[in-house]
Amino acid sequence: MKQYQEQISKNKHMLSELDDAIGDGDHGNNMDRGMTEVVKTLEEKNPSTITESFKIIAMTLLSKVGGASGPLYGTAFLEMSKASKEDAELASLIEAGAQGIAKRGGATAGDKTMLDVWLPVASELKQKSLTSQKLEDFMNLTKDMQAKKGRASYLGERSIGFVDPGAASSKMLFETLLSAIK
Ligand code: ADP
Ligand code: MG
Repeated sequence: MKQYQEQISKNKHMLSELDDAIGDGDHGNNMDRGMTEVVKTLEEKNPSTITESFKIIAMTLLSKVGGASGPLYGTAFLEMSKASKEDAELASLIEAGAQGIAKRGGATAGDKTMLDVWLPVASELKQKSLTSQKLEDFMNLTKDMQAKKGRASYLGERSIGFVDPGAASSKMLFETLLSAIK
């Protein structure tokens, strides 16, 4: 989370620029505010289990991030918190997170959202074949998609040609995961 917060902070302008093109330009700031708060709260509460850690991350994102992405990332971590009580295997956790996002936001694959990174990442993790290049590819595939959910969907066909900001911040999350695993 600490490494992710650093990445978000470094890239917040880029994320907001992506959101400027097909949304309202706040995604970088939303994520930066949320992640700064997440790191602070984790340091204060110093959780001892992954279940508790995910719950703190979820609650913080849910309460501190305005915009669609807060509740969606928040739900992902909340579902991961619940799932971790049964099975703390990485692929199962990310799968639970992706399902949480899908349930909360009603999107499916190809709708040009963060799910277009979460869903393929979950299946790559299952096969132990996730790479940094694949993450880049999943994110870039959103460029040619037409947005069907969220603010960008109001643009209809004009949403085509831009990378989805939530897909970009999700790609960064899993990029951080890969580097933390190494
Ligand atoms: P807002 O759109 O409220 O300004 P953000 O800019 O922080 O919120 O986040 C926008 C991102 O949220 C989008 O790029 C997309 O990835 C994601 N998103 C929006 N709506 C949905 C949804 N229904 N399901 C999944 N992801 C969504
Ligand atoms: Mg926005």
